[in-house]
Amino acid sequence: MCGIVGYIGYREVYPILINGLKRLEYRGYDSAGIAILNSESHIYKCKGKVSDLEKHVSGNPIHGNIGIGHTRWATHGEPNDTNAHPHQSTGGKFILIHNGIIENYVELKGRLKNLGFSFKSDTDSEVLANLIEYVYLNGNVSAEMAVRLALSQVEGAYGVVIMCTDEPDKLIAARKGSPLVIGVGNDEYFLASDATPIVEYTKSVIYLSDQNVAIITRTELVLKTLKNIPLTPTIQQLDLDIGEIDKGGYEHFMLKEIYEQPRSIMDTFRGRITTQGTELHLGGLYQVIPRLVEAKRIIIIGCGTSWHAGLVGEYLFEDLARISVEVEYASEFRYRHPILDKDDVVIAISQSGETADTLAAVRLAKDAGALVLGICNVVGSSIPRETDGGVYTHAGPEIGVASTKAFTAQVTVLAMMAILVGRRRNILDDKQYQHYIDELKEIPGKIEKILEHAGEIQKLAELFKYVNNFLYLGRGYLFPVALEGALKLKEISYIHAEGYPAAEMKHGPIALIDLNMPVVVLAIKDHSYDKIVSNIQEVKARKANIIAVVNEGDTTIKQLANYTVEIPEADAIFSPLLAVVPLQLMSYYIAVMRGCNVDQPRNLAKSVTVE
Ligand code: GLU
Repeated sequence: MCGIVGYIGYREVYPILINGLKRLEYRGYDSAGIAILNSESHIYKCKGKVSDLEKHVSGNPIHGNIGIGHTRWATHGEPNDTNAHPHQSTGGKFILIHNGIIENYVELKGRLKNLGFSFKSDTDSEVLANLIEYVYLNGNVSAEMAVRLALSQVEGAYGVVIMCTDEPDKLIAARKGSPLVIGVGNDEYFLASDATPIVEYTKSVIYLSDQNVAIITRTELVLKTLKNIPLTPTIQQLDLDIGEIDKGGYEHFMLKEIYEQPRSIMDTFRGRITTQGTELHLGGLYQVIPRLVEAKRIIIIGCGTSWHAGLVGEYLFEDLARISVEVEYASEFRYRHPILDKDDVVIAISQSGETADTLAAVRLAKDAGALVLGICNVVGSSIPRETDGGVYTHAGPEIGVASTKAFTAQVTVLAMMAILVGRRRNILDDKQYQHYIDELKEIPGKIEKILEHAGEIQKLAELFKYVNNFLYLGRGYLFPVALEGALKLKEISYIHAEGYPAAEMKHGPIALIDLNMPVVVLAIKDHSYDKIVSNIQEVKARKANIIAVVNEGDTTIKQLANYTVEIPEADAIFSPLLAVVPLQLMSYYIAVMRGCNVDQPRNLAKSVTVE
């Protein structure tokens, strides 16, 4: 959440900041601002999008080679011009941008007010700017030391980049909980919440770790801990291409990402299935596989769409590996008093690898002695760095706020893990193992076929674009997909939608059904086919409009449902990868037809780094 960008070097900074903020806008978009230092400091900020900021700045060309920028997802204080970042301290010496929450800001603010500091905004971030200035003036210390000392009084999470007007050739960056990446160029450095604003300038990056501070001039980067212990920076090479982070001719990132799924799933299993297709190689699990195979219990944690992928994982591990699985919302898990021991394996799923609640749950599970694994998309992010092992999804950057290709890549990873563990536990024999691997290789081609019929789904969207409620029903592997379909619709079209296990409908939600309620039923040919046919009959008897997702060639349900969408047949364990695609497309088209901002839905942001 929230995008941070910074630059120090020889180039004109304004375009770097604006373009960087545009790349990061998917992380937060309720207000935006920049600060540039030349002989004096210039701050421009306003409510709204980065394009509003550009309008606000136009006519005032600012020159300079050092600056910071922020696109906000408000936590403290409504989105308005004053609460937008950057924030400047009362005496004007410090200007900062902040991602995260200063949890003890009320107490700090009270103390600072008593000391004569004044506050313009309602944010927690401005408190930090003033605290640093207080330490700086009162302690008569360097800017860097003031930052370190102030941050050691702060509770909560932060990714910050700070400028000091007394030391105008310097950027100071620090993090705890919120991500920061530093791009290393020749006599220039770039800072950002993720690598997308950096990749067009340099592929050499340093991922800042928690409790670390970077003091950056044009020619030098000094890395140390908050406690002033010097560190040697590790420079890594980005595996990210500039072409991956633009819309590639699609109207929205979400549509591009839906269409990328055949490729992103292939990228997720590429190199992990040998060319003969006889072995699964999950390198990130080599060290830990014995403990995973021996696990008494697997606990999968995630939030939102990742939690839905986790539910698919529950069916997969129980079916293929016969290991008992629990799936938990990270935010609930971490605040309960979960019972964990060293025979448990915790799998944390997060697209960004930075989800605050999931990261906190990872730490809790590690402290309890469990083996903790990650399934993440962003290489080098916090969760992969803090877990004992894991598997990257390799779906490529996901910019659309509503997750699509990350979900299918997460399910692909979970399927590969369950197949591998199932074979090692002798639950699957060689033939079954080979069968699943062969089936997985077919999935991208089958998704291509679904995408070829997007026009039919668009026509359905036209029919249902003005309804107020939707019900999604599925059984077994497709129950989590029903939840995911409902979530997609809620997120981007703001239509109320619920997902239910189809058999559960008669225990309550059936009361909602009448002729105004469209019901999406996921009804593939698996062992519960006859049961779901009965569920469809029950819905039909109450006059609902039924949209059924069925296998190609299905005739029974075609006679019952008002509309059908066909997907190719596949083994039930892979059915979520296919059945979710028409639901993603339907929510996309409905949202576009309702005039909603698909890539930046209201109140949401990508990469939830606040708790
Ligand atoms: N807590 C800060 C605010 O509300 C930062 C929010 C963010 O990460 O965008 O302004």
